[in-house]
Amino acid sequence: MRIPLFKAIRKTKNIKHKKSIIAAVLILVVIFAGISIYQKSGSYYVVFDEIVPQVQRLNEYNIDVTFYEEEKIIEGKEKVTYVNKTKENIDSIYFHIYPNVFKTEKTAPFSEEEMDLAYMDGFEPGYINIKSVKSSEGDLSYLVLGKGNSILKVNLNEKLEAGDEKVLYIEFMVKIPPAYGRFGRGKKTINFGNWYPIAAVLDDSGWNLEPYYPVGDPFYSEVSNYRVAITMPPNYVVASTGDLIKKENIEADYEWTFEANKVRDFAMIASDKFKVLEENVDGINIRSYYFDDNSAELALNAAKDAIKIFNEAFGKYPYKHFSVAASDFFIGGMEYPKLVFIDQALYVNKEFLEYVIVHETAHQWWYGVVGNDEVEEAWLDESLTEYSTLLYYENKYGKEDKQKIYNKMIVEGYNKYKDNVKKDEESILRHLQEFNNNREYHALVYCKGAMFFEFLRQELGDEMFFDVLKVYYDKYKYKNATTEDFIKICEIVSDRDLKSMFNQWLTGVGE
Ligand SMILES: [Zn+2]
Repeated sequence: MRIPLFKAIRKTKNIKHKKSIIAAVLILVVIFAGISIYQKSGSYYVVFDEIVPQVQRLNEYNIDVTFYEEEKIIEGKEKVTYVNKTKENIDSIYFHIYPNVFKTEKTAPFSEEEMDLAYMDGFEPGYINIKSVKSSEGDLSYLVLGKGNSILKVNLNEKLEAGDEKVLYIEFMVKIPPAYGRFGRGKKTINFGNWYPIAAVLDDSGWNLEPYYPVGDPFYSEVSNYRVAITMPPNYVVASTGDLIKKENIEADYEWTFEANKVRDFAMIASDKFKVLEENVDGINIRSYYFDDNSAELALNAAKDAIKIFNEAFGKYPYKHFSVAASDFFIGGMEYPKLVFIDQALYVNKEFLEYVIVHETAHQWWYGVVGNDEVEEAWLDESLTEYSTLLYYENKYGKEDKQKIYNKMIVEGYNKYKDNVKKDEESILRHLQEFNNNREYHALVYCKGAMFFEFLRQELGDEMFFDVLKVYYDKYKYKNATTEDFIKICEIVSDRDLKSMFNQWLTGVGE
């Protein structure tokens, strides 16, 4: 959803005689909600909306499932309260049903060279069967469509008017494949990433129905409220996006009930081998789920220090808990709201483990709280997350160490790629489909993207650069931002025209 244009008034030094103007603005601030004020070392930023955005109601998911260990399936139902946030009436609602792409080797979301790693125990299909879709008036017709059958289209019996909400009941069964990815199971963990029907985003461009690409993190969603109950055998521990509300005996099993408000997805990871370490920092409960004692402490400390550093640098992490879970996951790390999956094989490589945990923790700000379309504008969260990781090193270990990591992880990564390609393949801002492979995606979106943020910081100076990040975080908290929105904030804070600079870095064209 696009946010209306906003104006900014910047006051620096000698503000005495302008105090009355500021006071007047402050009164307006009290009158209109959603206005942010920044006061930092004597300079003032007052940022406000031309049209104050409405407080939007959020979609709500109430999911109740049972895991059947022997069959490796989960079965259950989902109640979705869907809010039509557009100005148009709609006659259908679309959902992503990602598990279906795991049905065949051809549609599984891995590149050819990744297949052996993803299915190290051999391929077996995973999928989701939609058993029924109902509203309070009865059955609704629906279609399963799209590449890999990963879209569910629900036809409404009558139009859902702008601003109105509709309650849907979806019954489904999910078969969990033996895949060491976001969704699947290995020898130690069951990874529930992108596992339930999640509403597609309806924005100015229409419904966003992109398939599950093997490159990047091909997701785009809206902040919603969740209540999820999962019944598991008693020997399992479940880490999730939610706060544990209760854990109850249901015959021989346990039902874990979680709640999570204002999050853009809901993931879980379950294991019968998890051990847990936890600690409180700035009122946030940080948990490390692990298998071997080696590096468990390091994982907890990396997450804890990262949260502390990013709280200071960008604005406070708004939730009560954050979990880092070792998992059967071959792709390094994966971010979900309040929960990140970390490849358990990394726990023997302390340096890289720390890097990956900090990166996934930074995603809590860029992806989690401030969202974006990760299919069309992946750089927006990924490049900024990679640069945020460097800020952790700068803060914790000093500028020299940060520079070493920057050279090794960023500059080297980019140069290696650059030596092998033509210049016109250098744009960072591309649709995921336009990247040839994950290597190219990594070199450009992670490495060159982080180099761009380093350049931007030098260009704006530290104070302005961090103000940009703080304003961006505050302004787009719980929303989806676009590249254009980010540029606008940079221009407002710096009072400069930066379009050509952004163009040059992001698309390779510009003056
Ligand atoms: Zn990332």
